[in-house]
Amino acid sequence: MSHERDPLTNPKIESGDGAPGDGTLGDPPSDRATSQMHGDGHYGDVRSLLFGDLWDYAPAPETADHVQFQSRYGHFIGGEFVEGENFFPIINPATEEVLAEVATADAAVVDRAVTSARSAYDKYWSKLSAGERGKFIYHIGRAIQEKAREFAILETMNNGKPIKESRDVDIPLAAAHFLYYAGWADKLEYAFPGAATRPLGVAGQIIPWNFPLMMAAWKIAPALAAGNTVVLKPAETTPLTAMKLAEIIREVDLPPGVVNIVNGAGATGAAIVEHGGIDKIAFTGSTEVGKIIQRSLARTRKSLTLELGGKGANIIFEDAPLDQAIEGVINGIYFNQGHVCCAGSRLLVQESVVDTVVAKLKQRMASLRVGDPLDKNTDIGAINSFDQLTRIKELVAAGVDEGAVLYESECDLPDRGFFFRPSFFTNVSQSHRIAREEIFGPVLSILTFRTPSEAIERANNSRYGLSAGIWTDKGSKLFKIAGALRAGVIWGNTFNKFDPGSPFGGYKESGFGREGGLHGLRSYLEVR
Ligand code: NDP
Repeated sequence: MSHERDPLTNPKIESGDGAPGDGTLGDPPSDRATSQMHGDGHYGDVRSLLFGDLWDYAPAPETADHVQFQSRYGHFIGGEFVEGENFFPIINPATEEVLAEVATADAAVVDRAVTSARSAYDKYWSKLSAGERGKFIYHIGRAIQEKAREFAILETMNNGKPIKESRDVDIPLAAAHFLYYAGWADKLEYAFPGAATRPLGVAGQIIPWNFPLMMAAWKIAPALAAGNTVVLKPAETTPLTAMKLAEIIREVDLPPGVVNIVNGAGATGAAIVEHGGIDKIAFTGSTEVGKIIQRSLARTRKSLTLELGGKGANIIFEDAPLDQAIEGVINGIYFNQGHVCCAGSRLLVQESVVDTVVAKLKQRMASLRVGDPLDKNTDIGAINSFDQLTRIKELVAAGVDEGAVLYESECDLPDRGFFFRPSFFTNVSQSHRIAREEIFGPVLSILTFRTPSEAIERANNSRYGLSAGIWTDKGSKLFKIAGALRAGVIWGNTFNKFDPGSPFGGYKESGFGREGGLHGLRSYLEVR
């Protein structure tokens, strides 16, 4: 595989407008935090603080000794941990060590879980006052907060994501979802004024491995607030924080059967989808599986929401604050190793600034630390599984074969575990697979445009429509472009910002239905 990994050589970085404090290269060096020397020891036109290799971060690993989890899990049904069969190993992707074994739920186990959810709905949950329902949901959120550190470490061990992300993003947002929806439970008449609302009944929920606890919270919290009971299936590779959540659900004395969690692979998900006792399916995952589910539900009365893949366009105009935009690019594609459905995986740069953007990106990438996810200084952790690493490598090889130019960060990778260097492609054309398909890894495809209308045309030229980012100094331009983009979530001069009150979801093959906010509540209700 041929690729460009040469160090930066004399990048043509143009000066900013020179206004002091504008954050551009016109600023005095002391005002900037740039620290990387070019590989050839040459600083070109970039005036930087000259740290070079003079110092590095000392290791700062989180201790995992106090994190408690079982070596074997069956399922969580009717408020009890129940035995299972057909166990499979759960791997720590950063070390390749087996963390635990988890059982596979077949159709009979799924049936038990659905029966338990139905009975809990009929006996307890639908009879409980909305205020009491809200209190349970609130308690779950508070209990997650109380055990946040343990959850964060376990999430990192199971998923491979850096501890600073599980600690600062995943776990706080998971708790925030429960707290937010707890507040709506007894205010449905204000949420949908003038309408009568009714819960749907039993919701089947299938989630992916990229944000395991957060996805569980996005699914469970609105479903319970709306008065439904649930059967949730975590992803095959990342069930451990869902099992920990089950412990909390027991601790807060949620009526047995209101939340049931069954483990397993795709066949378990399919058994939930096909079960006649399910009223609603909420699925997050790949577009391919989303289509299978939609086909399977086409002849039923079950309601469906699909949150599927994406190939988000992150658009940088020539008038954008470029240093800020580079941070947005880094966050957009390297956050969570790029395992993000709304990742800004297509960078569209106005032609006049592409050289500057590429040079700055290389410089910033040189400071990304890849390695032990439990180290608090790590920016990029492990790819979640060997299978996902293989998929990323295949698509990257396809990009090189089709003529795009690969740049990989020069960092060292650990000897064990599933790691991939943060990378980007230039010389990308719209027809390349890397411009069209979701890589779901730390790999960016850079394309260029000349005019705003070309930017819109290119951004919308995708089968997906989940997210987009716009970087410009002009508010009017930002709103005009945003209005023309077919994407469910559009960020202006920022990227990857989430809030439980803000709806999230896609257009086109990125799915339908929204999660978060009132929209997320509505998809678990019949509103008449
Ligand atoms: P999948 O769509 O296969 O998995 C998502 C969830 O659905 C998992 O819990 C999975 O179980 C389950 N599932 C798999 N097959 C079925 C089925 N036939 N019926 C019901 N449920 C099923 O995604 P993958 O994990 O395999 O990842 C593949 C690709 O999907 C990634 O490379 C990425 O491009 C994309 N993806 C997108 C996500 C997003 O948020 N938009 C999230 C995850 C992946 P199991 O865990 O056993 O596979």
